[in-house]
Amino acid sequence: MRNLLAILLLLATFTCKASDVSPIPERHRQINVLSYDFTIDLNDVNDEIRGTAKILLQLAEATDSIRFDLKSVNNGKGMTILGLKAGGKPVPFLHRNDLITLSSAGGKKNDTTLIEITYKGVPGDGLIISKNKYGHRCFFADNWPNRARNWIPCNDHPSDKATVSFQVNAPADYSVIANGELVSDEKDSSGRRITRWQEKNEIPTKVMVIGVADFAVGDAGRVDDIPVSSWVYPEERDNGFYDYGQAALILPWFIGKLGPYPFTKLANVQSKTIFGGMENAGCIFYHEQSVDGKRTSENLLVHEIAHQWFGNSVTERDWAHLWLSEGFATYLTDAWVEMQHGQQAARTLLAKQRAEVIDFHQQQPGRPVIDSMETNYLKLLNANSYQKGGWVLHMLRLKIGEKAFWEGIADYYQRYRGKNAGTGDLQKVMENHAGIALGDFFDQWLRQPDFPNLEVRWKSTPGGLSITVHQLQNTLMKFPLRIAISGAGGTTHVNIPIDSRKVDEEFRLPYIPTSVTIDPDTELLGVWKTTPVK
Ligand SMILES: [Zn+2]
Repeated sequence: MRNLLAILLLLATFTCKASDVSPIPERHRQINVLSYDFTIDLNDVNDEIRGTAKILLQLAEATDSIRFDLKSVNNGKGMTILGLKAGGKPVPFLHRNDLITLSSAGGKKNDTTLIEITYKGVPGDGLIISKNKYGHRCFFADNWPNRARNWIPCNDHPSDKATVSFQVNAPADYSVIANGELVSDEKDSSGRRITRWQEKNEIPTKVMVIGVADFAVGDAGRVDDIPVSSWVYPEERDNGFYDYGQAALILPWFIGKLGPYPFTKLANVQSKTIFGGMENAGCIFYHEQSVDGKRTSENLLVHEIAHQWFGNSVTERDWAHLWLSEGFATYLTDAWVEMQHGQQAARTLLAKQRAEVIDFHQQQPGRPVIDSMETNYLKLLNANSYQKGGWVLHMLRLKIGEKAFWEGIADYYQRYRGKNAGTGDLQKVMENHAGIALGDFFDQWLRQPDFPNLEVRWKSTPGGLSITVHQLQNTLMKFPLRIAISGAGGTTHVNIPIDSRKVDEEFRLPYIPTSVTIDPDTELLGVWKTTPVK
């Protein structure tokens, strides 16, 4: 997703060290949900929902008990369970502290069980029931990161992906959008609208959604037989269709770069998401101010469309690897800007993102990109996951070259499509394509918090230039430093391999150097101070 400023203001100082291998919590790990089938009843009298969840699961390991996430009632908000069956029979359960525990529904590894839960309540979050900016009542799911449990019982962790169906029973004048394909849309005998959508690809709970509102629905065309549609507030019909219709122009570039689109449709939905945009699978929700008829949300669309491949189809196996979603969406947006608006526009964007990483690092030093210490996942919506993650991909592309980079990214998608992946999985795929070991590269940029902080001193010499580069940051790093040396005779670009605390270099030049520019092409994530020495 794209974060709003309000989210950034929640950030607090935090220091940690990360590990790739922090285990997934036991209760999330024990079960593998295969499919969710939800029926959700909505009404206009109050904000209470009634739900039925049919959850088909397989035990990933032997266990006595099975646990699901579902918010308990607290201050009038939350869910009350009306009935619960396992394998068609009522079973004892405990619903306390936002957790449903079925203490006798377990079994041995690979056993499958169908759990059926009926429940009701007023969602405190996760399903936003409110009025849109025109005062019309609407219902928008907004599950990221672990807010699905506010309105649907589930194994609320990105490692447990499943197919999902939503049947929404709503008053007749609402339209209903959800993940997947439309199965049926009809009126029942009392005139209520019964709409059923089914997503046959396994997706994480964070991107399972329904949107229920008065929508104007526009067909934006087909791309490789994928229908692209716009769902906007009727008051902004024309502007909304124009702005969101751009998705059909963006999609072919991604398919060409990454491989087949992962889902069966792409709906672009004006919504009440708390985020700037939320990449819900095949059903992107944008904030309600995102329409202006001028396509100023282009980069927002690009970012959320990129997530369909990375985040939704290839899903990080744990929150610590969130950069595999957000860093990818950030850098694929940079790459789109480069293709669409030119290299200078992309460099300007990268320079801005670099400044944001440096600013974040000054406010919250000591945090690596792979951040297994943070448990408030909203705080992972930070410049490490987004901008630094994007910069790591940028530097990887420069390091291994265009061919290896793009073929590697497409291969990574192909291998982990519909599954989970960790940073180590990406590293292995990219090593295959690069033909070199990338452990040092991944370690220094993702698994420790520092980036280069350089002191550069240079001096004109008879016939050239001498230069000294000091690394001042705690962790010694290895990287190429590109510099531009200018004088009356022109400008020369040279690369200096930096691999020790202090590097001295001499360059012979046919002119007297008068200035040195560090990183003229925006290729290094770092800071530096350049001093000419007399
Ligand atoms: Zn994102």
